[in-house]
Amino acid sequence: MKKSNKVKLSLSTRAIHGKHLHAFKGPVATPIYQTSTYRFEDSRDAIRYAQGDPNVLVYTRYHNPTVNEVEDRIALMEDGEAAALFSSGMAAISTAVLCLCKSGDEIVSTPALYGGTYRFFRDSLHDYGINVKYVDPNSLEDLLYLITPKTKVVYFETPTNPTLSLVDIEKLVRLTRKAEKEFRTRITIMIDNTFATILNQKPFNFGVDVIMESTTKYLGGHADLMGGVLIGTKQFIKKVKNLAKHLGGCADPFAAFLLDRSLKTFELRVQQQNENAMDLAKALAKHPKVSRVLYPGLPSYPQHRLAKKQMSGFGGMVTIEVKGGVKAAVKVCDSLKVAVNAMSLGGVETLVSIPVYSSHVNMSDKELHKHGVTPGMIRISVGVEGAEDLIEDFRQALRKIT
Ligand SMILES: *Cc1c(COP(=O)(O)O)cnc(C)c1O
Repeated sequence: MKKSNKVKLSLSTRAIHGKHLHAFKGPVATPIYQTSTYRFEDSRDAIRYAQGDPNVLVYTRYHNPTVNEVEDRIALMEDGEAAALFSSGMAAISTAVLCLCKSGDEIVSTPALYGGTYRFFRDSLHDYGINVKYVDPNSLEDLLYLITPKTKVVYFETPTNPTLSLVDIEKLVRLTRKAEKEFRTRITIMIDNTFATILNQKPFNFGVDVIMESTTKYLGGHADLMGGVLIGTKQFIKKVKNLAKHLGGCADPFAAFLLDRSLKTFELRVQQQNENAMDLAKALAKHPKVSRVLYPGLPSYPQHRLAKKQMSGFGGMVTIEVKGGVKAAVKVCDSLKVAVNAMSLGGVETLVSIPVYSSHVNMSDKELHKHGVTPGMIRISVGVEGAEDLIEDFRQALRKIT
């Protein structure tokens, strides 16, 4: 086969073999370089490193073969030029934002964000002189006046927590580029793709510049590691890695090893999660004690058309609203036997949480209304257990509501 007609390999093939696809030697599994530092052959190595020789290994906060292996694999999986791995999703987000913005700069963001990101924008960036403005996803045209010559980043998340509402990626990119042209600036469009994952949503195809994912969630997938990743151009990743050396949110080799192992089953797991979520959403939509099921894959979902336009799968997150408010929601969550009452998401085990007690705790009724959150909501991160077992589990728990 000629190199020029290179066939695009499947996601699993890329995840399993990484850059070793044509290698005949070496270990099949990635070894853990559980070391903080590296031996120099002689002292000239230190000088070679200082002069920028990438082959000299010095210290694990700068580089580590296990971490670099995972970065290469994720970049391959997500069709990006390069990736940088971090100790958490928040480390990835904060390092990226501080790499792109300095005091006096502005960010335009959609308002429905992961709680940690929202609070970082609200409570921390202000102190560094970085201003965040919010654009309503239902009136993205406002980008044209919210973006100014000071805007360095347009940041968004879709689907969002816990209502799973969507942002039109194509429209957001088109309007940002239009505003960018007017001001002759360069704006980095950055997405938090944690909920959808690269299997269900491919932001680079829409012209997004940087993808962030909390690898703690679907990429890790077993509720046993913390991590975050940024994927983008080589130039951006080089810059962000330089700043990461100062800020220190680098990935640990053992967490990277666990993630490497997880990547091999990523497509299998998330495919099953997509299917289970659809089955559970359909079953619960018919249940008399459930007043609403929010799942982008259901034809009844208000943004189903947009979901079909920009997502290739609808993900593993389902939000339901039970009749009887928060008391009923608590009763259901405490009565489930298969699904686990725990925060977080993306793992092989199904988890449930009540938004008014978790992501949206301590919010006024007005704020809850603004976010579309109601007391009877239960957010479900659907795992890979048997779909029938999950449906039966929710049925028996819903029977406990009086
Ligand atoms: C969990 C999460 C994060 C933060 O990731 P950590 O690994 O917990 O730091 C960011 N965005 C979304 C959508 C998340 O679910």
